[in-house]
Amino acid sequence: MTYTPRKERYEAMQYNRSGKSGLKLPAISLGLWHNFSGNDNFENGRSMIHRAFDLGITHFDAANNYGPPAGSAEENLGKILKNDLKPYRDELIISTKAGYDMWEGPYGNFGSRKYLISSIDQSLNRLGLDYVDIFYHHRPDPSTPMEETMAALDQIVRSGKALYIGISNYKAEQAKEASTILKRLGTPCLINQVSYSMFNRWIEADLQDVLEEEGIGSIAFVPLAQGILTNKYINGIPKDSRAAGDSKFLQSSDITAEKLEKIKKLNDHARDRGQSLAQMALAWVLRGGRVTSALIGASKVSQIEDNIAALKNLDFTQEELKKIDDILAD
Ligand code: NDP
Repeated sequence: MTYTPRKERYEAMQYNRSGKSGLKLPAISLGLWHNFSGNDNFENGRSMIHRAFDLGITHFDAANNYGPPAGSAEENLGKILKNDLKPYRDELIISTKAGYDMWEGPYGNFGSRKYLISSIDQSLNRLGLDYVDIFYHHRPDPSTPMEETMAALDQIVRSGKALYIGISNYKAEQAKEASTILKRLGTPCLINQVSYSMFNRWIEADLQDVLEEEGIGSIAFVPLAQGILTNKYINGIPKDSRAAGDSKFLQSSDITAEKLEKIKKLNDHARDRGQSLAQMALAWVLRGGRVTSALIGASKVSQIEDNIAALKNLDFTQEELKKIDDILAD
């Protein structure tokens, strides 16, 4: 099968500037944490990437450790880039990260120069690329001096292995410190990749203000709470869902009665807005323009189509927002 992207792929997507940088990201990006590993159906992953690009998703997010086995999501993405998307490389934003456990011994995780420089080389190898568009430090390192981590990231950009630097899971104070160092080095931080959803609002306390002051964008991961913020669990746990599968990160016990009650109310509210719950959850993350992109996952092409349609209505009235706050606070 040869792949030719749709001509109309840029018509419906919205592209948002990441902080004060020159780079725009699609309002919805696709992550490869689940469903793109060596244990998953390669053709399904390939179809999802094709469909995503056809719908204007230009940004695909990987990490060194995505699998299992670790590295296999990058390898699969590399195959798709090589065989299907090579002519479109300049239309794509490919990101990867390093920070979590990747190889054995003291140099295979966290934030030392040794780990980060080795890891980007390994990632480029697996992806079959000369450079990634965004390279992230995946989580703060409590032991390595921030200066060392940021200098390594700056060096990665200067050596042409990444175009932009991102941080991930950095709290307000950590983001401020990283940003100050990176500005001094001359490689401003592009973006902070953070968890954010209706069930997880920690970034609202102080991080969003810091990011705005520093001119840093944000990309919200797990915006659907791994699928909980959709209508899929309302009538039980479907066999083909993440909660029913072998993911370490979502188990059936996470689908609690308390959450389900909120989900049902949110689902009714979404229906009143003419949206699916997944669409409303994504629109909510993107409301008011504070978040650059919502970073979704998917196990099926149809989910990507459902989720992209969120962009048809990103506006909320004050009453609608209050209703959501009330449901969440109940
Ligand atoms: P989501 O919250 O978007 O959950 C995605 C899952 O929800 C899908 O795999 C699917 O699961 C289900 N789903 C999606 N759309 C629909 C729909 N329309 N209707 C019904 N079910 C739907 O995000 P993820 O948890 O997948 O994470 C997204 C990305 O965020 C990752 O791939 C990664 O790039 C990034 N990430 C970053 C982290 C970091 O530390 N920086 C940590 C975690 C994630 P199902 O299998 O049940 O169909």
